Amino acid sequence: MIRQKILNSNLIIYSMRIAVASFSHETCTFCPRPTTIEDFERGGVLRGGEVLKAHRGIPSYINGFIKAAEEEGDVELVGILDASRSWGGSSGSWLTRECFDKYTYEIAEGLRSAGRMDGVLLALHGAMAVEGCLKPEAEIVRRVRGAVGDVPIMVTLDLHANEDHELTDVADGVFIIKTYPHVDSEQTGLKAARCLIATVRGEFKPVMAIRKPGVITPSVFQGTDFYPAKDIMDRAREWEGKGAYYVSVAFGFAYADVPDVGATVIALTDGDKELAERAAQDVSDYIWSLREAFAGRRIPKTREGVEQAIRAAREGRRPVILADHSDRTGDSTHILRELMAQGAENFVVATIADERAIEEISRRAKVGERVEVMLGGYAHPLSGEPVKISGIVEYLGPCEYIHNGPMARGAKVRLGKVAVLGLGLNNHVIVTPTLHQIIDDAIFPALGLNLKNIEIIAIKSRVHFRAFFKDVAGAIIEVDAPGLGPADLTQLEYKNIPDEIYPIGRKWRE
Ligand SMILES: [Zn+2]
Repeated sequence: MIRQKILNSNLIIYSMRIAVASFSHETCTFCPRPTTIEDFERGGVLRGGEVLKAHRGIPSYINGFIKAAEEEGDVELVGILDASRSWGGSSGSWLTRECFDKYTYEIAEGLRSAGRMDGVLLALHGAMAVEGCLKPEAEIVRRVRGAVGDVPIMVTLDLHANEDHELTDVADGVFIIKTYPHVDSEQTGLKAARCLIATVRGEFKPVMAIRKPGVITPSVFQGTDFYPAKDIMDRAREWEGKGAYYVSVAFGFAYADVPDVGATVIALTDGDKELAERAAQDVSDYIWSLREAFAGRRIPKTREGVEQAIRAAREGRRPVILADHSDRTGDSTHILRELMAQGAENFVVATIADERAIEEISRRAKVGERVEVMLGGYAHPLSGEPVKISGIVEYLGPCEYIHNGPMARGAKVRLGKVAVLGLGLNNHVIVTPTLHQIIDDAIFPALGLNLKNIEIIAIKSRVHFRAFFKDVAGAIIEVDAPGLGPADLTQLEYKNIPDEIYPIGRKWRE
């Protein structure tokens, strides 16, 4: 379809129109609180032209789509909808059916009213879990297909995707990021969009093969800088060196109790089905051969981890990053309580999610005043007990900051109302309204916290924090505190996973 647009007084002739939409969520189905329309609206849903505007210049799949279109000059991208920032993120459990229907129908309606499209790019996650819909990403693509008909639809996914053949049956191409910390979303978006454009032009014929090796692993052991995750991604890249256009590996998201949970390999080639099958089978077999290594290593429990952190700080290995990998609700108090019990000094806990406590602090004190408040420990018994805090209010008000690390440099974070309490001994706790994962150090100056004198930074993150902190931390200590995202998956009660999946399916546990 030929369209014209006058841009900066130049006449641009578009020969191709590509729609762009995003609807994504990583659903921890073990968390207590469902994910609703209100959560997405509060997090910020973008529509129409806003979708492209918001992503331009920021590392993301959609910025990759934009770059691919700009390489061509005659490709017009049309933003439809971006619902990818639900309030509380992964601390939200099953999406309500109403929520899923609202945004999928909005995407479909947006596509119908946007006129003829030559193709669609969908930035999804892959670990969305929806009440009454077992394979939500496949369903999203089906609804998009219903709106646009027989044009290529290409999908990008997170490395934590849980997928199976239902998705590859309905999508023309699936592209999964290869890094954790996720620093290649833009590159993956670029690859997907180039493939889509070439397919629309008739220069490329995407064919896919998919395998499920039957292995599920905790997120904390999936970092791609380390064995075995690194070796698996290298194996996938080897096949790309041997002619496959893109070989995707998702390690899966273990904290979603869904039937397609676990690792997935999808090989995509230009018309060569046999090569796709060989590549997918090989990488799948390789994952299976490394399954025991993938089950992980021992991580110190709370007391031991905090002891190690204090020792490292005394040895001058500062700052020490103390990473609680298992808190999925955000309100866990185990590490804070243990730091206080062991008499740690010069620490900051980032963060405890507790909107009620922020409101209470606001009612009873101003910045500079002392306040007593019960903090955290409310969402789930594994979050630990609430901690009684008596501290000076150091910050109280809305917090916005701009990411400065490789994962999301330039992206703005709006946290809502935040409190920082000073506990004495140069100790501080940041209280946020919801779960907040620290992936760089931009939040601290935004809250008036000077990291220069801080020895221990206790955060809630599994692997993402490494992208920034691996270069600036004196020591990194992971802690296996109680939580809904444990390293030992046998602690979780699954109902929907396949019997055969290693190592937690019924077959392996009996
Ligand atoms: Zn992920």
